[in-house]
Amino acid sequence: MASLSLDQIHKTYGNDASAHVALKGVSLEVKDGEFISLLGPSGSGKTTLLRSIAGLETIDGGNIHIGTQLVSSNATTSGFHIPPEQRHVSVVFQGHALWPHMTVHENIAFPLQYNGTPPLEIKHRVNAALASVELDGLAQRYPSQLSGGQRQRVALARAMVGEPKLMLFDEPLASLDTELRRDMMRQIVKARRSDMPMLYVTHNQEEALALSDRIAVMSDGQIAQLASPEILCREPSSAEIAAFVGGGNVLLAQVLRAINDHTVCLEINGHEFLARCHVLPKSSSVLVCISPTAVTQTYEIKGLEVRAAFVFFQGSSQLVETDLIRYDGSLFSCTLPLTTKVHVDDLLRLCILDAWVIPVVDA
Ligand code: ADP
Repeated sequence: MASLSLDQIHKTYGNDASAHVALKGVSLEVKDGEFISLLGPSGSGKTTLLRSIAGLETIDGGNIHIGTQLVSSNATTSGFHIPPEQRHVSVVFQGHALWPHMTVHENIAFPLQYNGTPPLEIKHRVNAALASVELDGLAQRYPSQLSGGQRQRVALARAMVGEPKLMLFDEPLASLDTELRRDMMRQIVKARRSDMPMLYVTHNQEEALALSDRIAVMSDGQIAQLASPEILCREPSSAEIAAFVGGGNVLLAQVLRAINDHTVCLEINGHEFLARCHVLPKSSSVLVCISPTAVTQTYEIKGLEVRAAFVFFQGSSQLVETDLIRYDGSLFSCTLPLTTKVHVDDLLRLCILDAWVIPVVDA
């Protein structure tokens, strides 16, 4: 039995002419111990879905189960909606939402006091939670006496202390700088439990790729692709997902011939290269996704000729944006080693080492 089960969730805000459909039939099964990210641009419905699971929003269609318990079901028609505090779900928000007038200890103890846990057990569990986020010794401080990263650790400890059935994260790292972000990512990895699923809302693909077992890419109130981070990067199911995940270059290419059932030879501006595909394309041209790192410089005459439009030094490599135009109008880019320094307006010949044919969705 899945620990979190979403079956055809629908949600519309408002009921007049300005009504907005935020969720359009979202289904998802999250297994015990699994970490799933909801990744997508602003307005794609991630927070609405998270709030619906937490019980902070009612839903207009579908069913939500946490473990075997039905917690939401077509709430506006049948009125079935278990309130948030009875769902055994913890949420970590971006702004950590600590109570400023309470000490760290009191903040973490609050959910246990609310549940009527005996004082000695509260003390023991709060100390264990503080130790787990490496904040022993700061129990008597107030939130204003902590750094942003420490405050977010306290929020994580408070979310964990009640041993919830499910943990939800709503952009928890959005306000942290790079170093603190990495630190919190370590804390979140440490907080994983084999009997508890985690659902993590973010628009930051780096966090989603680093933390998740699977990523649900959301677009316009629906899950556009659900896959492991590796599959999502290597085999995006649409040009939009390829552009959103991993800075994918998507180009139009001509189909030359099939090599085998899952490999096809393509051509762009006279340069021939091999691309992976799910099924062999039937059309004479396809959209193809090429990672910026799957390109190298060549001196062969049959290389893909481009001119460097912008060059960005990246420490151990250089990102070269070229005059080759992607399908969405932006510039085709590649990450090249620093062995040959590239300058703006240099003419380059490129060799495409790996590519993926974007599947065609039948109308
Ligand atoms: P995301 O988290 O992906 O940015 P949201 O779930 O916050 O997306 O929003 C999805 C859509 O629903 C957006 O178009 C947003 O404007 C709309 N929306 C969110 N909350 C409300 C609300 N309380 N009232 C009306 N519309 C809302």
